[in-house]
Amino acid sequence: MTLDPDLFRAITLDDITMPGGWSVSRGQTHLYTDAERGLMQEARAFAQREILPRAAEAHRSVEAIKARCAGAERRSRLRGIARDYLRLLAEAGMTGALFPETYGGNGRGVVAECIIDEELAAAGHPGDVIRSVTLTLGTISILRFGTEAQKRRHLPPRIAGEELAALAITEPQVGSDTSRMQTRAVRRGDRWVINGQKRFITGGGLADYLTLFAITDQGTHPHKGMSAFIVPMDHPGVRIRRQLDEVIMADWMDNVWIDFEEVDVPPDSLLGPLNGGYHVLMDELDTERVTYCMGALGGARRALEVAAEYATKRVQFKQPIAMFEGVSFRLAEMYAQLDAARQVTYRTAKMLEAGLSAQRESAVTKLFVAEAVWKIVDDAMQVLGGAGYTTDFPIQALFRNARLMRIGAGSDEIMKFLIARELLREVKG
Ligand SMILES: Cc1cc2nc3c(=O)[nH]c(=O)nc-3n(C[C@H](O)[C@H](O)[C@H](O)COP(=O)(O)OP(=O)(O)OC[C@H]3O[C@@H](n4cnc5c(N)ncnc54)[C@H](O)[C@@H]3O)c2cc1C
Repeated sequence: MTLDPDLFRAITLDDITMPGGWSVSRGQTHLYTDAERGLMQEARAFAQREILPRAAEAHRSVEAIKARCAGAERRSRLRGIARDYLRLLAEAGMTGALFPETYGGNGRGVVAECIIDEELAAAGHPGDVIRSVTLTLGTISILRFGTEAQKRRHLPPRIAGEELAALAITEPQVGSDTSRMQTRAVRRGDRWVINGQKRFITGGGLADYLTLFAITDQGTHPHKGMSAFIVPMDHPGVRIRRQLDEVIMADWMDNVWIDFEEVDVPPDSLLGPLNGGYHVLMDELDTERVTYCMGALGGARRALEVAAEYATKRVQFKQPIAMFEGVSFRLAEMYAQLDAARQVTYRTAKMLEAGLSAQRESAVTKLFVAEAVWKIVDDAMQVLGGAGYTTDFPIQALFRNARLMRIGAGSDEIMKFLIARELLREVKG
């Protein structure tokens, strides 16, 4: 008797050959306009043609840089990878959706940005997180609250991939409860002088500028005495205390803890109204949460697609494991979660695009999508069995990134707190 050699062959990533995005049916996107559907196809083709082939090599480069270089050299090399990635996207028109043409964008809007986020995230380039912090977290507040001079100075180079940005809210003592913020900005003559620390700042070590939140009026509730500032990272007194991506498990390029000691910046560094920073922060978080969700769904989609294809190729008990109901039902549940999560994200993106306040809806979206993404990626790992746990497949990286989503940009518990607060306000009238 001759044995079929295929039965004894391990499935590898090379066997996963279907193009990404096949699991997105027309039904899932029938709420999209024709232009949005066209953009989805354009972004997907671009991501598969230009990003996917570069992603594995970029991951290897990031790992090699992290292993061999330290300090400024390491940051400069990582910055180079992030800038190359952003410039490539800029040339293809993938960086300007949130910004009007006056500043170098294309004004396609929040939904378009979400569509691009999903497709780029599914391609899995390590620079994608820097794209997200530069174009959304660190920049959306400049678009909404900046002066004309601030917009003209910062938006065009960011959209072109020349200037990198990051967002600095969190501190060693301050996470969910921003009312305990310790970083202070004090007016001295015609300058603002900033003292404090910011921790967990994604892309902070690569950024040219931070959008930073600090207390400017200590005599009132912190939410009424907080302001936002645009702070250059190369300013005297700004110092990276610790490189955190060495200890953070997610697939980031850079994450830092930063000290600010007597950092004096000019008055035009103030972003938005003096003592109006809490409103700027809440507004930023609404957009950040929605775009973060769509990016995370891109990762979850990749996990589902890899798992589904793997299940049709992996043979156990003389048949592909997809033939077992225990596996196929799991895939069906993953698909249903992905479908529902995309719809709720799209709904909230539409609200933001229409200029509506969407704090509750953003919180609902973030809570639902974070749990869905976590479940999908966890299920994908189960479908791949031991192979899913290895670095031969992308599932373990998607798994680590997905877990962060339940903590970053406001934890699950804080999303529940926000939703319950709004609900109970209505009950009480
Ligand atoms: C990889 C990574 C990247 C990040 N990037 C950035 C960044 O770019 N910029 C930035 O500013 N920050 C960033 N953060 C910080 C992130 O936003 C915070 O970690 C998050 O807001 C939670 O704060 P914390 O970690 O201090 O947890 P804590 O606030 O200390 O919370 C600990 C636990 O207590 C729970 N908890 C707290 N309050 C309540 C409550 N009222 N009710 C019920 N449960 C509660 C929380 O849900 C959580 O489970 C990043 C974090 C990580 C890990």
